Amino acid sequence: MRVLLVGSGGREHAMAAAIARSPLLDALFIAPGNPGTAALGTNCNVRADDVAGLIKLARDERIDLVVPGPEAPLVAGLADACAQAGIACAGPSRAAAELEGSKTFTKEICDAAGIPTARWARFDNAADALAHVRATSAPIVVKADGLAAGKGVIVAQDLDEAETAIRDLMTDATMGDAGRTVVIEECLVGDEVSLFAFCAGEDAVLIGAAQDHKRIGDGDTGPNTGGMGAVSPPTGFDRTRQEAALDTMVRPMLREMARRGTPFHGIIFAGLMLTPAGEKLIEYNVRLGDPEAQALLIRLQSDLLAALAAVAHNRLAEADIRFSDEASISVVMAARGYPGRPVTGGVIEGIATAEEMPGVRVFLAGTRLDAEGRLVAAGGRVLAVCATGDTLEQARERAYAGVGAIRWQDAIWRHDIGTRALERMAG
Ligand code: ATP
Repeated sequence: MRVLLVGSGGREHAMAAAIARSPLLDALFIAPGNPGTAALGTNCNVRADDVAGLIKLARDERIDLVVPGPEAPLVAGLADACAQAGIACAGPSRAAAELEGSKTFTKEICDAAGIPTARWARFDNAADALAHVRATSAPIVVKADGLAAGKGVIVAQDLDEAETAIRDLMTDATMGDAGRTVVIEECLVGDEVSLFAFCAGEDAVLIGAAQDHKRIGDGDTGPNTGGMGAVSPPTGFDRTRQEAALDTMVRPMLREMARRGTPFHGIIFAGLMLTPAGEKLIEYNVRLGDPEAQALLIRLQSDLLAALAAVAHNRLAEADIRFSDEASISVVMAARGYPGRPVTGGVIEGIATAEEMPGVRVFLAGTRLDAEGRLVAAGGRVLAVCATGDTLEQARERAYAGVGAIRWQDAIWRHDIGTRALERMAG
């Protein structure tokens, strides 16, 4: 099979590493890729959201399967363009990608499919939204309807904060068109976990679950980031609970999408809150998470490419999908300054040493090779140092030993990935 993988992050390096192991693979192209993917296939200079450019590349290289990493190309219609060009794609159509692209859409699907979620209301004008929050009580959650890179959600602790959020989003349009419509939700309390599954029409097969660490600082302090680390599985959310959640949170959604004539093919990421009243859906994303993908994929024992082809060709029921039942962890090393302006250009060494350690894998994200062929930082999130272990404690020790082997003067990372999960287990 000739495969085009779309994206350039650590998630895509982990996906490329798994695809490269497949006996079904004839050639792997990555657009645009990074130095990690370049070692596994051919990087092509086409942006991940350039749908026309990706289709041209896929035609030129006689691609059999397009594998989207991030959401942007899917929301921009990559899968539809592939269908038109007669190329298989392991990702959802633009209509099905609305599950990530629009919060109102997701809420409507939840209601139609009977999926537990926070109570909600949608508003197109600020006056009605303000009247609604004044008539309810804080804390309350205000969300921009459209994609806002994680910045369009305000968990307001009091009425003032909720009103400011509504004015910012709706009147001052701080998030542009994404915030012209807002969803106002009941505030849920509990632990958050992410559930992942391969989906094809009404079939779903579990990938696993993970817990992300969004904040930049130890102890969940400081601003939100794209994710600073992940553990898998989350404490108290074992395989039995994951399978049960697939039945309540994913399969009813798939049936509803199929009923509407917009079946979902791809990887679903269900963000769940484990509330005292049971699991509730916070959001769907239509792709793997980053850095959850890295922690999940290092445990994959079966053929990722075969699974992705089964997703694209609606043959998921026949697919052999197996993960080891080890624990795993990913620790992101970011560049000083992130999530603001990261310091780039610093030379990174020691990856090979880290990867000689038991269970350790390092995936590259914002990196490039300089004129002398040295690996240098070129973005905010730069590396994900990952490890498996018989226990989470062992995986954690291994990953941090890997971090210790990396030499890069501008690196920052969290020192407590998995700490809370281990405390929970102990307590
Ligand atoms: P991201 O890109 O960070 O996933 P997003 O823009 O897709 O964000 P959501 O996932 O819906 O938005 O919300 C972001 C975060 O806000 C959640 O991970 C959760 O911590 C918090 N949140 C969202 N909805 C609620 C809710 N109803 N109650 C409490 N917290 C919530």
